[in-house]
Amino acid sequence: MREIHAVLLREVEYARPVSVDDAVRLLAANEGARALAGGQTLLNVMKARAASPDVLVDLNRLDELRAITVSGDTLRLGAMATYTQLMGSSEVEVARPILAEVAGQIADVQVRNRGTIGGNVCSNDPTNHLPPLLVALGATFVVRGQDGERKVPARDFFVGVYLTAAGEGELLTAVEVPAAANAADGFASVTVGRDGTCIANAAACVSDPGITLVLGCVDAVPVVLEPAADDAESVRAAVEGAGLDPPSDVHGSADYRRHLAAVCAVRAVAAAKARGS
Ligand SMILES: Cc1cc2nc3c(=O)[nH]c(=O)nc-3n(C[C@H](O)[C@H](O)[C@H](O)COP(=O)(O)OP(=O)(O)OC[C@H]3O[C@@H](n4cnc5c(N)ncnc54)[C@H](O)[C@@H]3O)c2cc1C
Repeated sequence: MREIHAVLLREVEYARPVSVDDAVRLLAANEGARALAGGQTLLNVMKARAASPDVLVDLNRLDELRAITVSGDTLRLGAMATYTQLMGSSEVEVARPILAEVAGQIADVQVRNRGTIGGNVCSNDPTNHLPPLLVALGATFVVRGQDGERKVPARDFFVGVYLTAAGEGELLTAVEVPAAANAADGFASVTVGRDGTCIANAAACVSDPGITLVLGCVDAVPVVLEPAADDAESVRAAVEGAGLDPPSDVHGSADYRRHLAAVCAVRAVAAAKARGS
C-alpha cells in the first residue's frame, strides 16, 4: 500500500540573522529568499502554496527593527514594530495617534500581536489598512539593500497588487512619518464582519495647504485624491470624479465598492476635521 505524507509546508531553509546587514546579505545571496516578519500573511500563502520561498530570513531577533522613536519632527517606526506596539506607544500617541487607532482595528488580538507595520506594507494587499493611511500621512519608507540605503515616498512605494518598490534582496527597515504639527487625520472603513477584511477604506489628512484623501480597496495601489474642500459634497465629488474601476468579488460588486469608497471618504474627512477641532 502506498503511504501518503501530508505536509503543511514544502521544505524550506531557515535563517535567523543577528544583524540587519546579515539579513540583507542573506536576502541578496539567495534568489528565492523571503523575509519573515510576523508570518501572518507569508505563512498562510505558503500553506496555500501560493508562495514557496527557498529560504526564510527570520527578522524576529532584530530588536533594532522594532524600535519606535521620535527625532525632531519625525516619528520613526521600525519595520518590525507590531500593531500592538503601535497601539501602546507613547511616541505614536503624541506624534500621530491615528496610527494607534487604525492598528487597533486590524483583525484580532493574535494578528495584532504578531503582525508588523513592515509586513503589512510589504505584502501590499490592496485591502490592508496601512497602505492608504501611510500615503495620507506622507510617510517615507527606508529600504536597505547590498548597495546601501534609499528612501521611498509612500506614494511611490506601492506599485501593484502584492508588489512594492522594495525589490528582491532588499529589506524595509523603517517607516518615517512626519509628526502631525497642524495636520489632523481620519480613517474609515467598511469591513466583512467586525474584525474582517476591508471592503472599502479611506484615510484623510486635513492640513493648512489642503486635504489629502487616499482610498484603499478600489485599485491595485492606494488612490490619492485632493478634494477642493472638506465638506461632504466636495469629497463625494472628488471620489465620483476619479473614474474608479474597482474589482467585483464575493464581498461586493464594483458598483457597491464605488459607493462605499465615497461613504468612507466622507467619514474619513469628517473624522479628521473632528480631531482637528
Ligand atoms: C485572520 C487575518 C486577518 C487579517 N486581517 C487584516 C486586516 O483586516 N487588515 C490588514 O491590514 N491586515 C490584515 N491581515 C494581514 C496582517 O495584517 C499581516 O500581519 C500583514 O499583512 C503582514 O504582516 P506580517 O508582519 O505578518 O508579515 P509577513 O507575513 O511575515 O510578511 C508579509 C510579506 O512581506 C514581506 N516582508 C515582511 N517584512 C518585510 C521587510 N521588513 N522588508 C521586506 N519585506 C518584508 C515578507 O517577505 C512577505 O512577502 C490579516 C491577517 C490574518 C491572518
